[in-house]
Amino acid sequence: MSGFTCGWRVDGGLRWLWWGGAGVEAVFPTREGGLSADPYASLNLGLAVGDDPAAVLENRRRLGAATGLDVGRWVVPSQVHGTHLVEVGEAEAGRGARDLTSTIAETDGLLTAAPGVGLAVSHADCVPVVTVAAGAAGPVIAAVHAGWRGMLDGIVEEAAAALGRRGRLLGAVVGPSIGPCCFTVDDALRRRFDARFPGVATGAAVDLWECAARQLRAAGVPAGEITVTRLCTSCDGRFFSHRRERGVTGRHLTLAWRTDRAAAANGES
Ligand SMILES: [Zn+2]
Repeated sequence: MSGFTCGWRVDGGLRWLWWGGAGVEAVFPTREGGLSADPYASLNLGLAVGDDPAAVLENRRRLGAATGLDVGRWVVPSQVHGTHLVEVGEAEAGRGARDLTSTIAETDGLLTAAPGVGLAVSHADCVPVVTVAAGAAGPVIAAVHAGWRGMLDGIVEEAAAALGRRGRLLGAVVGPSIGPCCFTVDDALRRRFDARFPGVATGAAVDLWECAARQLRAAGVPAGEITVTRLCTSCDGRFFSHRRERGVTGRHLTLAWRTDRAAAANGES
C-alpha cells in the first residue's frame, strides 16, 4: 500500500493537485483563482514573464492562504535548466517569495530538512518532481525543475540520490507537465534521449514522465511509491503551457514542505 495519496483540492477559488504523506505535502496549482489578465490568466505565479508584479504577488498570497503555507515561508530559486542543487533551511525562508532579487541564483533543485520551509519550482511544461526521504530528524525533501536539458543531465536522479544519502527514500511525485502526447522533438534530440533512456522515444515524441520515473527508480525510490500524475500541461487548458501558448504564458509554482512546523515552533521536534 502506498504511503502517499494524491487528489484535487479546492479553496478560495483556487484549485490544485495535492500529494502528500510521511509528514510532507506538495501542491501543484492550476491556472484557476488568480488576478492576472490574459495571457497570464489567472493564477500566474511567475515574476519574470512580463505580468504585472502586483497581480503575481496577490496570486502568491492567495495560494499561500489557500494551502496554509504563507508566502513568507517559500523559497523560490532562479532557474537556469541546470543540475545545481541547493539545500535551504530556516535562514532562507522567504527568499525569492516576493521579489526577483533575493532568489536563490542559478538553481533548479532545492532540498530541505527544515519544517515549514516551502520549496518552490517554477514551470509551464517542464517537469516538477518532489522526492521525500526519511531523515534522521524527520523527512527530507527535494523539489526539482527538469526541462529536457535537466532530464538528460540527470537532475532528478541527482536530487533523489542526495536525499538517499540522508535516509531511506520513501516516495516521489512527477507533477503536471508536457506529456508524450505533445512533447515532440527533432531527430538529433530524439536520438540523445534514446541513448540516455532507451525506449522513451516513440516517433518524434519523448516521454519525459518515464525519464523522470526511471531516474527516481535508479536512485532507489520504491517503484510503488512513485506517483506520475499524467496530466499534460499542453493538452489540458487548466494549466499554463509554454509550447501551446508559444512562449507567452504564466508559470505555475510547485510547492513542497514539511508539515510539522507547528510542532517545531513549540519546541517539540
Ligand atoms: Zn499532451
